[in-house]
Amino acid sequence: MSLLIIRLIIFVALFWLGFKLFRAWNAYQQQAEQEKAQQHAPPPDEQMVKCAFCDLHLPQSQAHAHEALWFCCHEHQERFLRDGRQKKDDA
Ligand SMILES: [Zn+2]
Repeated sequence: MSLLIIRLIIFVALFWLGFKLFRAWNAYQQQAEQEKAQQHAPPPDEQMVKCAFCDLHLPQSQAHAHEALWFCCHEHQERFLRDGRQKKDDA
């Protein structure tokens, strides 16, 4: 009789452990999916700015600021300050 009770306890313990592992695995999968989605989606309130040198539009977080102007890269900032706006070939 006691052997049956021990088997029952072991069976319940294994079932409970499996259930816990299943829930932990599900939570891990959901968290991984959320992180993946957040990485691919741009930040919700990201403002787009325009490079004063080449007119490229880019997120403000990736732009370089100089006074009231935005630049796509440090090189364009230096060239704009040195030479002014980029000269178009068709002008
Ligand atoms: Zn630029």
